[in-house]
Amino acid sequence: MIGKGLAHGVQDLPWGRIFELVQKLDDRDLRDWYAARAGGWSRAQLQTAIATGLHERQGAARANFEWTEATWNPVTGCEEVSPGCTHCYAETFAERWRGIPGLPYEQVFALKLWPQRLEQPLKWSRPRMILVNSMSDLFHEEIPDAYIEQVFEVMGKAHWHTFQILTKRHERLVALASESPGKALA
Ligand code: SF4
Repeated sequence: MIGKGLAHGVQDLPWGRIFELVQKLDDRDLRDWYAARAGGWSRAQLQTAIATGLHERQGAARANFEWTEATWNPVTGCEEVSPGCTHCYAETFAERWRGIPGLPYEQVFALKLWPQRLEQPLKWSRPRMILVNSMSDLFHEEIPDAYIEQVFEVMGKAHWHTFQILTKRHERLVALASESPGKALA
């Protein structure tokens, strides 16, 4: 038993399977989908199921947002910036993993850059609708301009995908785009 407050179906799983779920799946609905089944699988079977996209073959919901097909989180963590943040799903999700060392949300909802994830969309050969930063706001004031530029450069290279960005900090989006003529963000 790992602890209370985890997603339904997760709390009774052995640590190794919880690790696989958190390491391999950013999306809450997908994680819940696999967690509901992982009790009857070995860790190796869970790895294979995730790697081969079992949920897609069985027609499961592919992402928390029904209009997207994948999530890409080169940044995680954020802070409330408007009344619209009151029921932030990302913060609620991150809180589920509080106190579990070694997992991606060990730091809960503190802002964190994940440069090792920057190249992910370039490795997905099948065109997808990708939600960028489902677990943060790409225009958070503490994310360096250069890092945001890198995210946009990857989107430019991975032209076979469609990227979707939601932000509550549109002022910074507008400012960066106007300050960076000719660059990837413009
Ligand atoms: S800006 Fe978005 S990610 Fe950040 S706290 Fe608000 S709703 Fe959550």
